[in-house]
Amino acid sequence: MSFCDQAVSGVANLKPYIPGMPVEELQRKYGVRNIVKLASNENPLGPPKAAIAAVALAAKEMARYPDGNGFSLKTALATKHQIAAEQITLGNGSNDILEIVARTFAEKGDEIIFSEHAFAIYGLVTQAIGATPIVTPAVNYGHDLTAMLKAITAKTKIIYIANPNNPTGTWLDPEDIKLFLEKVPEKVIVVLDEAYVEYLHTEENSIPWLQHFQNLIITRTFSKAFGLAGLRVGYSVSDPEVADLMNRVRQPFNVSHLALTAAVAALGDEAYLQQTREVNEAGMKQLIAGYEKMGLQYIPSKANFITVNVHTNALEVYDELLYEGVIVRPVANYGLPQHLRVSIGLAEENQQFLDALSGILGRG
Ligand SMILES: *Cc1c(COP(=O)(O)O)cnc(C)c1O
Repeated sequence: MSFCDQAVSGVANLKPYIPGMPVEELQRKYGVRNIVKLASNENPLGPPKAAIAAVALAAKEMARYPDGNGFSLKTALATKHQIAAEQITLGNGSNDILEIVARTFAEKGDEIIFSEHAFAIYGLVTQAIGATPIVTPAVNYGHDLTAMLKAITAKTKIIYIANPNNPTGTWLDPEDIKLFLEKVPEKVIVVLDEAYVEYLHTEENSIPWLQHFQNLIITRTFSKAFGLAGLRVGYSVSDPEVADLMNRVRQPFNVSHLALTAAVAALGDEAYLQQTREVNEAGMKQLIAGYEKMGLQYIPSKANFITVNVHTNALEVYDELLYEGVIVRPVANYGLPQHLRVSIGLAEENQQFLDALSGILGRG
């Protein structure tokens, strides 16, 4: 028999999330050495030293369940953001939070709005719970807030917005988001996914907006600028009542002890964050200069990656890059068949990628 009919509606048609290819997989399948992975927007510096030390100590406590309430991390985050610990929900990565929001506030028949070219998880969680995705067309590869407002109906439960967006790196002006929030009906949850916020060179901070908008949920992660992607830890900040509901839905031990410990240590490492921004800024300039030399168009990015138009079938270029030991991310599944998303690496990694790309494209 087939279990496809048994699965709840939506699940049989789900297309699994396609992650960046792990380095080991490329070694195993292609026998390639000297691999550079610029595929998952990870921090090229490796984890913060303080986090490595904290995890080594915490390893001795692995036989115990983690603190299901994440007291230490919530306290550290509350101090950092000047909020109450009751406003925080911790997640197994912020992907976990994005899913918890959907399971807390929407069900079959409800509508969830997100943008064309927006982060893939929004569509996946929508489909998994049997809700109806409403996808608004992008403008200049980014979110069209006016179109998103117009798409709201009586059935709308959630709107997901990534700022900056992945995989395009586009960014919305905070003033425009504020105006948008003022127009969204109170009963509609707005998720502002700020996975790359630490890379922005702006003092603008969305967290104070929570005082005005009870329907706002801001998500953040330790996977990108904080260098802890492998540990899986993220969080949201919201109204305490919203956080309370989400905390009922989440798994009781959704963040591991090692992840909690590392996150507290990473939060305190300002020097690492500073270095991360500097490496990113330099790498961004290097990649842009390389693209311009090759005459390639790219989407201006505020994040730690930059998506480039290779003006041909990007999947083929992706494959040829693999043979050169360079893993990037094809984004045809995001409606961008001629683009590659390239995470910003260390100078030598960026160079290896640029050299391989110019060789493949015969541009230089
Ligand atoms: C990477 C990313 C996330 C976070 O992923 P986690 O590792 O689960 O925290 C969330 N949103 C966007 C837009 C991302 O690019």
